[in-house]
Amino acid sequence: MLGSGSAGNSALVATNHCKILVDGGLSARQIALRLEQCGVTPEQLDGVLLTHEHGDHVCGLEVLCRKFDVPIYANSQTTEAVRCDCSLDRHRNWRIFRTGAEFKICDVTVQTFPVPHDAVDPVGFAFFAGASGLGFITDLGYATKMIVERLRQVHTLVIETNHDEKLLQADIHRPWPVKQRIQSRHGHLSNSAAATVIEELLPGKIDRVVLGHLSRDCNTPALALETVRTALNKSGKIDIELFCATQSEVSPRFCIGETQRGDFQPTFENAFFPAA
Ligand SMILES: [Zn+2]
Ligand SMILES: [Zn+2]
Repeated sequence: MLGSGSAGNSALVATNHCKILVDGGLSARQIALRLEQCGVTPEQLDGVLLTHEHGDHVCGLEVLCRKFDVPIYANSQTTEAVRCDCSLDRHRNWRIFRTGAEFKICDVTVQTFPVPHDAVDPVGFAFFAGASGLGFITDLGYATKMIVERLRQVHTLVIETNHDEKLLQADIHRPWPVKQRIQSRHGHLSNSAAATVIEELLPGKIDRVVLGHLSRDCNTPALALETVRTALNKSGKIDIELFCATQSEVSPRFCIGETQRGDFQPTFENAFFPAA
């Protein structure tokens, strides 16, 4: 996770052969800096995958793609929205997928599926390389049955824990309609809603959960972790690795299919996925 929170989101998914950016919602400078911390240059990216067109997922793309001709993978409605809003109209290197489609970027199989959120055609992803699977759902009001089914084969899940319900209720800065939007079925997952999704996946292969997209003033990493950990303990699952990503720092590298994480290697010799 290069950075995650309501102010900006970007993540790097990599194998020995492939480097994919998921969303570009940090400044281009920050994306480049944080990639560098992972031993990756923007030129090495095989593509940028977009979940949806909101600014906290795409704001760095215009500058990044003006400098580096990285292919952008998105569905057609998201592409249209981003091209209009972000002056990416001059970017030529688009790879348009149909929501629900499965495709390959190098040795990574990407499955896409719709998620309920107030964007034109928001999606979640499941990535597979070799025997390793990674699920990626941020920005969704609730998890549909189909989303849960799509994530049953993943080992690591990135999921949003946007807000603590009590803190959101008590917040004095957000007007009521904004609170309603966040809590709606096309808004964002609360800590406890995310915990419920994770519980549903426990019979599957999941062994690690990375929490992200936390609201700056209606959540804290401690609250999100505690809510999810309490739910896992109740389910008798104490061996699931839990981590909360932050806005300001690159997370440790997570090796999918292994529950031990290590620091980033400056040379990026090690893969996120074991070789197929
Ligand atoms: Zn967002
Ligand atoms: Zn959004």
